Amino acid sequence: MIVVMKRGASAKQLAEVIAKIEADGYAAHLADGDDNTLVGIVGEGRGAFQQAEYEALPGVARVARVTVPYQLASRQMHPRDSIIPLNGKPMGGDNVLVIAGPCSVESRENLLEIAHAIKEAGATALRGGAYKPRTSPYSFQGHGEQALKWLAEAREQTGLPIVTEIMDANLVPLVCDYADVLQVGARNMQNFTLLTAVGQSQHPVLLKRGMSSTIEDLLMAAEYVLAQGNAQVMVCERGIRTFEKHTRNTFDLNAIAVLKALTHLPVIADPSHALGLREYVPQVSLGAVAAGADGLIVEVHSAPDEAWSDGRQSLTFEQFAAMMASVKQVAQAIGRDA
Ligand code: PEP
Ligand code: MN
Repeated sequence: MIVVMKRGASAKQLAEVIAKIEADGYAAHLADGDDNTLVGIVGEGRGAFQQAEYEALPGVARVARVTVPYQLASRQMHPRDSIIPLNGKPMGGDNVLVIAGPCSVESRENLLEIAHAIKEAGATALRGGAYKPRTSPYSFQGHGEQALKWLAEAREQTGLPIVTEIMDANLVPLVCDYADVLQVGARNMQNFTLLTAVGQSQHPVLLKRGMSSTIEDLLMAAEYVLAQGNAQVMVCERGIRTFEKHTRNTFDLNAIAVLKALTHLPVIADPSHALGLREYVPQVSLGAVAAGADGLIVEVHSAPDEAWSDGRQSLTFEQFAAMMASVKQVAQAIGRDA
């Protein structure tokens, strides 16, 4: 439920509404509407919800039902875009931000080379996996904490914030010591223990859509993080499994447009994992930006064919720089900046 306060309701009236919500066993979630303050009523509460009691409180215009289960993630409860600052730029505002880097952190030298190249091309943040979710237990699993140290060194040299995947709830404190953004990967989108743990950190979270998850599943996963009090969640479309085999997954462009309507959270597109083929990554990136994505996350490597993971989908430095120029043009065409 949402309590819509009257225009010009006083701070005391708002405080009374919040006090009643808490006394009834719910949590209150404040948001600005176009003209009025909205107070979301979240949780189970004690006993049946007494709508008339809330409508009778001074300063209350009306009480509305939230018609979706992802309450905190929904635009109904939070009409304005949420902004998550990344390297001083707003993710979710007028800018389109680009996160780039290797799939896996392979070595210190290789990571630093890639970090400098993507910075030069205009990226806002550096991605790189230290803990890798691999289909085969015999594939490279990531350098772990050593990779986190190299990522931190790359941040020191370039000023780029670090986005890296976390797979284990027990590692949240360690990864938070090094990373700026915690990535929850497609395979862990419904790892509820992990979602709760990253929700208890105050680090921004980049939450990827599971490969067989619906848009609603994704928003419910985001809700887990938000429900812990961590408001800094970005949701990411990274391709879903379909019958199509030519590409690794199928990029769901629909999801970008639909997510922008359903949620206030920043929406990111990952064309690399959606396609699995580098030659199509620039075009699909442009499509995602045109459809309203707030950011892109793209794999880039100094020698893609020699990459330890996901080389086939990683862009060369030249391809990435050329893509960045086109991203800027498309962003500008729809009144944004990149
Ligand atoms: C990755 O970002 O390298 C990755 C493993 O992504 P996803 O979880 O989308 O497969
Ligand atoms: Mn990858």
